[in-house]
Amino acid sequence: TINKILVSACFLGDRVRYNGIVKTLEDKLLLQWQQQGRLISICPEVISGLPVPRPPAEINQTTKQVMTIDSVDVTEQFNEGAQKALLLCQRHNISFALLKESSPSCGSSSLYDGTFSQQKIKGEGVTTQLLRKNNIEVYSEVTIELLAKRINSSDQTS
Ligand code: SF4
Repeated sequence: TINKILVSACFLGDRVRYNGIVKTLEDKLLLQWQQQGRLISICPEVISGLPVPRPPAEINQTTKQVMTIDSVDVTEQFNEGAQKALLLCQRHNISFALLKESSPSCGSSSLYDGTFSQQKIKGEGVTTQLLRKNNIEVYSEVTIELLAKRINSSDQTS
């Protein structure tokens, strides 16, 4: 069978990013997967009702709350977005995700440090954490080649 892939909606050019700027991921693997009908896209932040544009948010490393730059606690919305992403994976039998690196929802190996000072640290976004807890493998634009290998071998064995 063909494995489906959950993908960050912003990679496909949807206008969902916090600053309202479209930033499509130009990548031949992504294009190929799109043509193969594998992609199921979601923006965990927009699906939970947050607007576009919206104030940037980061995970506070002490409290683990997701806070906007204006100190509004949006943890609940981020958790809801993560739950919806998980439900979508379960509905489509998805075991792999390609999510935008460093986002407080979608990041899979790095995050901003919570102080809005452009400093990155190691860490995972809220959606990535929940997906990984549920055995969904999460990759990013940086590790997309690795995902391609996993997809190829998994297509053959499943
Ligand atoms: Fe893209 Fe994820 Fe941010 Fe939505 S939450 S804009 S899908 S990185």
